[in-house]
Amino acid sequence: MARIHPLPDLLISQIAAGEVVERPASVLKELLENSLDAGATRIDVQLEEGGVRLIRITDDGGGIAPEDLCLALARHATSKIGSLEDLERVSSYGFRGEALASIASVARVSIGSRTTDTQHGSRIRGDTLAVEPAAMAAGTTVEVADLYFNTPARRKFLRAEATEYAHCDEALRRMALANPAVAFSLAHNGSQRRRLAAGDLRRRAQEILGSEFLEHARSVEVGAGPLGLTGFAALPAYSRSGRDEQYFYVNGRFVRDKLLAHAAREAYADVLHGARHPAYVLFLSLDPAGVDVNVHPAKTEVRFRDARAVHQFVFHALQRTLAAPLATLPGTHAT
Ligand code: ADP
Ligand code: MG
Repeated sequence: MARIHPLPDLLISQIAAGEVVERPASVLKELLENSLDAGATRIDVQLEEGGVRLIRITDDGGGIAPEDLCLALARHATSKIGSLEDLERVSSYGFRGEALASIASVARVSIGSRTTDTQHGSRIRGDTLAVEPAAMAAGTTVEVADLYFNTPARRKFLRAEATEYAHCDEALRRMALANPAVAFSLAHNGSQRRRLAAGDLRRRAQEILGSEFLEHARSVEVGAGPLGLTGFAALPAYSRSGRDEQYFYVNGRFVRDKLLAHAAREAYADVLHGARHPAYVLFLSLDPAGVDVNVHPAKTEVRFRDARAVHQFVFHALQRTLAAPLATLPGTHAT
């Protein structure tokens, strides 16, 4: 019989990485979330070879103190929560304190950072945890190179460069729609692919979903007590053959939730036919205590305390918005 023994730290992180770090886009999602949690107003992303060779993200957020750099890479170390009460009302994207540790266990990672109150930056290497001075602007730059270089079995699951790039682009689109006040840029293999200026949701939706979407979209603005639904929902004339333009967020977090998708689909049921799919960017807000985001580290699932009430609310809010005569709607632009 084999005896029981504790696993080494690196292996524990690599096992965790198997769940969270599915592909370059999942790394990018985590890094974007960290930059946004740090209060960044501009985020620049550079990718090479679909993000497999390199993901470099630079933000102008609050930065990390040199003495904390080591902790940023440690498992279960976070600046975002400290207690169960914090966890139940968490408003940041991150709180598990394991993304960077997981990523660093399956790629070559370095983090350079400078807080706003210091003159000098520092950089840490993920493999040696050596910290050295670095000349840089205030903010943080994270580099993730050679994803899965030490876990060839996982590397085999990566798809073609164009596919991985498309997933990265989609991760950025999702984040950018929820954070229109933040400027983003995205470059791939040295060429600029996206440049999104800071603005409001209308402008961001236009940049990401296109003018045609916005021309057919009704502005959604429904609030009932602690529940609120805002965003844009396209009228049926602008329907899609796929679900590619369905962006649903719960308290600012992108989710792919059956209940919400169903409520939306039902609201369109009378006006949308056959195999067509509605297009929308919707933000549901509710008391953080009424929703559990702690279901899975990477999956975009949530659990509602009162699922029925949420379903009803979303359904009625959307149905009313779609059915209302044009002139009565606030913020609706006739075309
Ligand atoms: P979590 O986001 O769940 O806290 P991470 O492993 O993603 O866990 O990050 C660990 C910690 O590193 C964060 O809590 C934060 O303090 C710090 N950190 C990571 N990225 C950044 C960044 N871009 N700017 C400032 N701090 C960061
Ligand atoms: Mg994080």
